[in-house]
Amino acid sequence: MATEVLVRPALEWQAGTVTAIRPETHKTKSFTFALPKWMVHRPGQHYDVRLTAPDGYRTERSYSIASPPERVGELDLTVELIPDGEVSPYMHDVLMRGDQLEVRGPIGGYFVWDVAMGGPLLLIGGGSGVVPLMAMLRHRTAQHATMPTRILYSSRTADDVIYRDELDRMAASDPALEVFYTFTRQAPADWNGYRRRIDATMLSEVIKPFGNRAHIYVCGPTLLVEAVANALVQMQLPTEQIRTERFGPTGA
Ligand SMILES: Cc1cc2nc3c(=O)[nH]c(=O)nc-3n(C[C@H](O)[C@H](O)[C@H](O)COP(=O)(O)OP(=O)(O)OC[C@H]3O[C@@H](n4cnc5c(N)ncnc54)[C@H](O)[C@@H]3O)c2cc1C
Repeated sequence: MATEVLVRPALEWQAGTVTAIRPETHKTKSFTFALPKWMVHRPGQHYDVRLTAPDGYRTERSYSIASPPERVGELDLTVELIPDGEVSPYMHDVLMRGDQLEVRGPIGGYFVWDVAMGGPLLLIGGGSGVVPLMAMLRHRTAQHATMPTRILYSSRTADDVIYRDELDRMAASDPALEVFYTFTRQAPADWNGYRRRIDATMLSEVIKPFGNRAHIYVCGPTLLVEAVANALVQMQLPTEQIRTERFGPTGA
């Protein structure tokens, strides 16, 4: 399929073709879409996905772009299965390689970071909230950027960690990047790291080397984002350096 590379927003709907589907965890899958009208995105932006039923009923959901803008012509979306949902079960259980899906994007100008914005960079994610943060890290790696970067990633258990191998590989090969996991339900038996919800003590430990200079991005379930944002404000970090994105009601 020929790909047209656009330099202005492609906000009309287009049919993306699914070229790959990869399980990430027991409840998340990544989908690669080839787009006829691809546009370079900023890490942190999202696409809208639209489903149309045979009777004409339509519904839309937003999904963050997981891939870096350096991957021209295609994009990855990583979707967590919400079992009683409308769109995520369709993507998990019905969508196959070769199928087409209506998508529109890239969208969003606030929850974005690229290497030109510099660092230090502090990324805080819960559950599938790691997806736009991963786009930022993949972009940082693709650009060989070296600004000090830390990611604090909250998951229920080790089996729920999305992109675990890639995150660990990135950190092992990059002295300026550190990955901190916290497990809220069950940590591995030999785990020495955090094993609770993100709280003010944890945040001050992770942010310590950056002082109040960090660009901070917080993404995940609504409750996590609100708790983290409140704690950061109470720590008197400059609010203009804190950007948040809420994915859903509770994530509980
Ligand atoms: C800007 C933005 C980016 C997003 N990026 C991603 C992404 O990269 N990956 C991803 O998996 N999701 C992402 N989401 C969430 C996504 O848009 C949907 O809300 C989610 O997939 C559920 O849709 P659904 O149709 O399956 O469920 P729905 O039919 O919308 O909801 C079914 C039930 O699940 C509850 N629910 C809805 N959303 C969530 C949620 N996120 N967590 C827990 N419970 C929920 C609803 O209250 C309802 O009870 C993003 C949301 C926003 C606003």
